Order: sequence, then structure tokens, then C-alpha cells
Amino acid sequence: MSEKGLVIVYTGGGKGKTSAALGLVLRAVGYNHKVCMIQFVKGSWHYGELDSAKRLAPEFEMITAGKGFVGILDDKSPREDHVKAANDTLDISKEKIMSGKFDVVILDEINYALQLKLLNLDDVIDLIKSKPPELDLVLTGNHAEEKVIELADLVTEMKEIKHPFKSGIKAKKGIDF
Ligand code: ATP
Ligand code: MG
Repeated sequence: MSEKGLVIVYTGGGKGKTSAALGLVLRAVGYNHKVCMIQFVKGSWHYGELDSAKRLAPEFEMITAGKGFVGILDDKSPREDHVKAANDTLDISKEKIMSGKFDVVILDEINYALQLKLLNLDDVIDLIKSKPPELDLVLTGNHAEEKVIELADLVTEMKEIKHPFKSGIKAKKGIDF
């Protein structure tokens, strides 16, 4: 493959950012492209995609290294733990990106880790700039940093029109997790 790899950002306040990235996985694996998805921040919930990933192996690999939600819901971890977990996850991401083994790498929820200042923005910018030229790199999460948006080739902002959460409907298995 010698085509230019893209930097893709899925951001915005509406639902569908991680779902969009997973849709891309399904498409890429159809061509036997190798995809790695690494999840930041998430970690304490069980997501359906963790099991679907096994069915798409070995082309698809999914890594969850975060410490769960930060500051909300069931979070009892001190901030230093989240900082360490996020930076460990970034190290794993670097290794996967530089390994040359993957056509696509997805850094799921990394925008939140940046917004929460768990990660150093310059570290992430350097990583984006130093990725192999043909690798497609996807970054998800709301509140994407301006510097990340500047480096991206494709940025989609999910805009909430309606969300069931607002009418009291709880997160649904198979739809939300
Ligand atoms: P999904 O994983 O469903 O594609 P997402 O990646 O766009 O959603 P995140 O910001 O990662 O959204 O949030 C993760 C969880 O929060 C999901 O369970 C999702 O359904 C829920 N969620 C996403 N957007 C909203 C919203 N606007 N209001 C309430 N809950 C939301
Ligand atoms: Mg998401």
C-alpha cells in the first residue's frame, strides 16, 4: 500500500463517534486490512465490541487499557492513576502505530483524555506527525483539540438532534454498549 494515510477525527456532542470508528473497522477488515483499536478513558464497562473483536481477529485487535470513566459514575480512582493509565495507553498506541503491522489504528476517546489533561497535547501531536505515511489514524471523542483538527484530513462533528438519555431512557445493550 502506498496511498497516503489519513488522519480522521470523529468529535462532537452527538452519539456515534465510536460507532463510526467501528463501522470503519468492519469495512477495512473486509479487505483483510489490519486494524488496531485502543481505548482511552473507557475500561470499567463491558462493551459488545470487545466480543465482536474476537470474531474479527486476527485482522482486528482491540486493547482496553484505560481506568474507566474519569470523575463520573463509578470512578473511585485518584487522578494520578488516570494520568498513568492514559500515558501507558499512549505508549501502547505508539508501539502499535510504529510497529508497521497495522493499516489502521484507532485511538478511541483520546480526545477526552486530552481535554481532561491526562495526556500532554504535544506528545499526541508528535505521535500524529510521526506516524507511518500510509497508516490511517483515527481519533475519537468530543472536544477535539484545535491542533489535532488542524493536522487532520477528515473531521466529522456528530451533532445531537435528539438523544434518548434526555427523555430518561437508559443506555441500551447493543446500542450504547
Ligand atoms: P457511541 O459509542 O455510541 O458511538 P460516542 O462514541 O459518540 O457513542 P461517547 O462520547 O464515547 O459517545 O460516549 C459514550 C457513551 O455515552 C455511549 O454509551 C453513548 O451512547 C453515550 N452518549 C453519547 N452521546 C451522548 C449524548 N449526547 N447524550 C447522552 N449520552 C450520550
Ligand atoms: Mg465514544
